[in-house]
Amino acid sequence: MTTLRLILGDQLNPEHSWFKRVDPECLYTLMEMRQETDYVLHHAQKIIGIFAGMRALASQLESRGHRVQYLHISDHDNTHSLEGNLKALITKHQCTKLEYQEPDEWRLDQQLSTLCQSLSIPSQMVSSEHFFTERLETAELFKAQKQWLMERFYRQMRTKHRILIDATKKPEGGQWNFDHENRKRWNGAPPEPIDHSRRHNHSRLWTEIENADIASFGEPQSHAFRWPLNRDEALDDLNRFIEHVLPNFGEFQDAMSTKSWRMFHSLLSFALNTKMLNPLEVVQRAENAWRQEKISIATAEGFIRQILGWREYIRGVYWFRMPSYQESNTFAHDTELPKWFWTGQTKMQCLSKSIGQSLEYAYAHHIQRLMITGNFALLAGIEPSALHRWYLGIYIDAFEWVELPNTIGMSQFADGGLLARSEEHT
Ligand code: FAD
Repeated sequence: MTTLRLILGDQLNPEHSWFKRVDPECLYTLMEMRQETDYVLHHAQKIIGIFAGMRALASQLESRGHRVQYLHISDHDNTHSLEGNLKALITKHQCTKLEYQEPDEWRLDQQLSTLCQSLSIPSQMVSSEHFFTERLETAELFKAQKQWLMERFYRQMRTKHRILIDATKKPEGGQWNFDHENRKRWNGAPPEPIDHSRRHNHSRLWTEIENADIASFGEPQSHAFRWPLNRDEALDDLNRFIEHVLPNFGEFQDAMSTKSWRMFHSLLSFALNTKMLNPLEVVQRAENAWRQEKISIATAEGFIRQILGWREYIRGVYWFRMPSYQESNTFAHDTELPKWFWTGQTKMQCLSKSIGQSLEYAYAHHIQRLMITGNFALLAGIEPSALHRWYLGIYIDAFEWVELPNTIGMSQFADGGLLARSEEHT
């Protein structure tokens, strides 16, 4: 009696209830596959980060006594597709059940549910235990409404999860939103958040990736690779952010400076989206920092809104609108993506800087993505689906469920205006 449990590359959460006890009848599997490296052209650091994170989780599980079958990109018996690999493992280990955590991407969700129907053994999808909301909870809230007001959703989330809510069920600080206090100009001196980069050595893994002929772009493993590969490293990043960077996040969250590639942004999106960190713990850490009087209410609220508000709301848009969402093109824009999006070589300084740092770090902060590259693409009439593939490939945190609504909806208005920030936009 063996249950095969599949762990996808963005499900790197060692705290999942699956792992609470060691069950010799459970076999865990993680697979490095061409179907995942090749569906779009990815930044080299994204491929390295996900594979290295998967390898780290596999070792951690094995060291805790779990049985793990890991398929490397270079393994000869790797078929590079979920179907081929899962069927081979089921036969080899005579598995009697397949279990998997709910995929965040529509593509994988479809693939797995189709595959399960063709198997002769039972299968079960379980919660990834990550999000505040269920896939269709947000759609239920907005039901037949033409525009989805993020602010309305966010207030419901604050109340439901009792985040920054006082004993009388009112918002802490007397108001729900302090956005107007969070739009200060950066004064010109270089910001000094601690920008530690790690001493990871990915040269062996990178050689394996190159030998497998996987196409990629961007800097593979320069000084710029600063992403956590396991939960301990992610927690370390979270601690540094809360102590040293968050105090300035709020006021300057909309600012840009050529002297800083991150300003006071958290750089937590990779750890969150791969589930090394849980959004509830991140939100609670920010709330506690305010309760301990380390940060202002405006900063705490501004940061919490990004995660409890925007991140969950965006996921709700994705599951409501897929699969047709990827084809949205309200303005019928059809200009080709300029070649310099892949090199950063343009005389337009803001674009050159934003794209240049994206190639170097696999990262640009929200204002660069929205106001620089996004705004340019909108004005230039770039075809939304080409732009979507670019955003999906270049950023370390890019997974379709969160990238697509941000690109199609928030930045290109290509969905006919479903997304709405607040009442004033209706
Ligand atoms: P911070 O500014 O420190 O914010 C904290 C956290 O809030 C982030 O880590 C993220 O989890 C969450 N968050 C903030 N804004 C958003 C948002 N609009 N949508 C969802 N979550 C949000 N985010 C991704 O995670 N993956 C993507 O592929 C992605 N693509 C984007 C494409 C475009 C065109 C735009 C305009 C935005 C995109 N975003 C994406 C949202 C946002 O830009 C990133 O989440 C953020 O820049 C990540 O950096 P950070 O961790 O330093 O964020």
